[in-house]
Amino acid sequence: MTAQTMQMTNAPSTTADSLLSVQDLVAGYGPITVLHGLNIDIRRGEIHAIVGANGVGKSTLLRVVSGLLQPASGRVVFDGEDITGMRPDGIVARGISHAPEGHRVFKGLSVEENLRLGTYRRGGGSAAVIRRGLEQVYAFFPKLRDRRTQLAGTLSGGEQQMCAIGRALMADPKLLIIDELSLGLAPVIVEELLHILSRIHASGGTILLVEQDVSVALGFSDRASVVQSGRVILHGEARSLLDDPEIKKTYLGG
Ligand code: ATP
Repeated sequence: MTAQTMQMTNAPSTTADSLLSVQDLVAGYGPITVLHGLNIDIRRGEIHAIVGANGVGKSTLLRVVSGLLQPASGRVVFDGEDITGMRPDGIVARGISHAPEGHRVFKGLSVEENLRLGTYRRGGGSAAVIRRGLEQVYAFFPKLRDRRTQLAGTLSGGEQQMCAIGRALMADPKLLIIDELSLGLAPVIVEELLHILSRIHASGGTILLVEQDVSVALGFSDRASVVQSGRVILHGEARSLLDDPEIKKTYLGG
């Protein structure tokens, strides 16, 4: 293991390639501080995983990045711009789009109506722009095309995850964030989703995966950050982290 591939550090590591840089972030809820000076650097074009056990602050980080929670201090810089404290719609408009935990869809709306809700960033949604977005999503997820008139609440868990990711893609993001891709889904479905994500990535996207399943996350990503108690305790090449004895012991059952 070299110093280049894995680092035990919490220091900012912003590079010229940075798409999203979270710097010294302190955030929480009322008197409870959850993030204690967290630093993350996501590079343009990579798949980056954020891993960590329940309750370490992964969702809190995503809330701050999406503009849903104001941090006590620290900065979020996206594509060269300080977006700290910006409203959620402004953040989506700048190119951060989020498929939320629990593959949340609007259950009473059809698949296509769900997808259309994601078009905010496509110029407010002219018919031609929306049609192009839908065609792009259907090309990645042919199952969604087959089921476009079906109520999203009647989809299987895997199909709901496709719908949630498809809706996020409709915003034409520079950074696609997926919160808990694998949660509650059978391994074969997770494999199918990862295969589609590879194609999305190959088409030029930057992807941030926030995952509790460490083997899925590290097996699929280029780089990763390990969060513990509201701090990044380890970051580096995902494959190197997968081989790390401490990671194996703590997260992979030995
Ligand atoms: P999980 O993977 O289980 O979702 P997580 O790493 O995403 O965990 P967070 O959801 O960020 O963790 O929660 C971090 C801590 O913040 C937890 O102790 C949680 O109880 C607390 N917390 C989360 N949301 C709130 C809230 N709205 N009010 C008060 N405390 C909260």
